[in-house]
Amino acid sequence: MITVPKGTKDTLPKDSYKWQYIENTARKTAALFDAKEIRTPTFEHTEVFVRGVGETTDVVNKEMYTFLDKGGRSITLKPEGTAGTIRAFVESGLYASALPVKLYYITDCFRYERPQAGRLRQFRQFGVEFLGSDSCGIDAEVILLAKSFLDGLGVKNLKLHINSIGCKDCRKKYQQALRDFLAEKKDKLCDKCKERYDTNPLRILDCKDEDCKKLLKGAPVILDYICDDCKAHFDGVKELLRAAGVEFTVDTGIVRGLDYYTKTVFEFVSDNIGAQGTVCGGGRYDGLVSEFGGGDIPGVGFAVGIERLLLLLENDGVEIPEPERLTVYVAPIGEAGREKAFKIVSELRKSGIAADTDYMERGIKAQFKYADKINAKFVGVLGDSEAERGVIKLKDMSSGEEKDVPISAILNELKKL
Ligand code: ATP
Ligand code: MG
Repeated sequence: MITVPKGTKDTLPKDSYKWQYIENTARKTAALFDAKEIRTPTFEHTEVFVRGVGETTDVVNKEMYTFLDKGGRSITLKPEGTAGTIRAFVESGLYASALPVKLYYITDCFRYERPQAGRLRQFRQFGVEFLGSDSCGIDAEVILLAKSFLDGLGVKNLKLHINSIGCKDCRKKYQQALRDFLAEKKDKLCDKCKERYDTNPLRILDCKDEDCKKLLKGAPVILDYICDDCKAHFDGVKELLRAAGVEFTVDTGIVRGLDYYTKTVFEFVSDNIGAQGTVCGGGRYDGLVSEFGGGDIPGVGFAVGIERLLLLLENDGVEIPEPERLTVYVAPIGEAGREKAFKIVSELRKSGIAADTDYMERGIKAQFKYADKINAKFVGVLGDSEAERGVIKLKDMSSGEEKDVPISAILNELKKL
């Protein structure tokens, strides 16, 4: 048997309605904030992610699906949604339109990682990018959007952690302080962090290695290094969140250490889904648009991992509304009935009523069994006696009630229900 590739999953009909529900909720929430959908290609020139995610990140270093296409170009499957969005924002000239531009996407992402619960090689993200404003209000708005989405789904036990990593200038000072602090312990860091020490020491704060975590005890805290402007911005974000009644914890361990990330960074974290507890990560990236040649346009956004969200909903015991049931299953008896049934279901569907009939040549008993299995609301029986009288025997599958309805009136009858 041929199986799916490692780290990927099929979504079968018994689960796909959950995805639809989450994605519909995402779209509705985005619309409440007037965010519009952007769809970018599944693959980009590798350069987009090297620039847009950052050379010193794990994503670019180890996790990308990169290959040469038949024309010899280096192509990468998108590992995240921001870089392609910003590439398109600049390429299409959207930056010259009325700002802010509020964008959202729902997209598959690809990362070559070790598969575990909540960590796949193909996964799906809902993300937003709000571009054009450096106001702390828009940071708060983006956080509120993520929160309304998660609350709207009925997620419990999620904690919001926020931090500020300052601007380029603050960060330089902090990086130096962190290097100084770690200078003597450098040899004890994991191999990755030894590299990070030189390339991007902030990422050491993000290391999952227990020894590295211990070595960081007592390390300088970035909030002590941010400039007055950045501090005022962060105070503004906190004030607005408080005013909106949003609880949060300031967590100086959150860094998202990419070069173009600035000021606010945040995560929604759960301790209910094991090690992969971060359901949503986001932040401000004032340097990214100019990295793509689009000028000095600030931005802020987040991405939610939908697989992790589903795990969380399951563990929290949140019920996802069941999909719409089939309205009517038309059960013919004999050949004549079959043809009539075919016509009736075609007419019903034309009028927007979900209908089905038998194509397995089942007897009437087996058809009822089938209708029960697929959870049809009504079964309409078309036997000889019904055909003679020009009626269909409509049975309400919940109450068991039956009545004869003239075939010409079936549409109106079902519409009434
Ligand atoms: P982690 O620290 O767990 O590796 P990350 O920092 O790499 O996460 P981001 O790049 O911020 O994650 O992506 C945003 C969200 O996408 C994450 O919070 C998570 O919910 C989801 N996500 C990231 N990588 C994966 C993956 N391999 N499988 C499933 N979901 C993922
Ligand atoms: Mg990761």
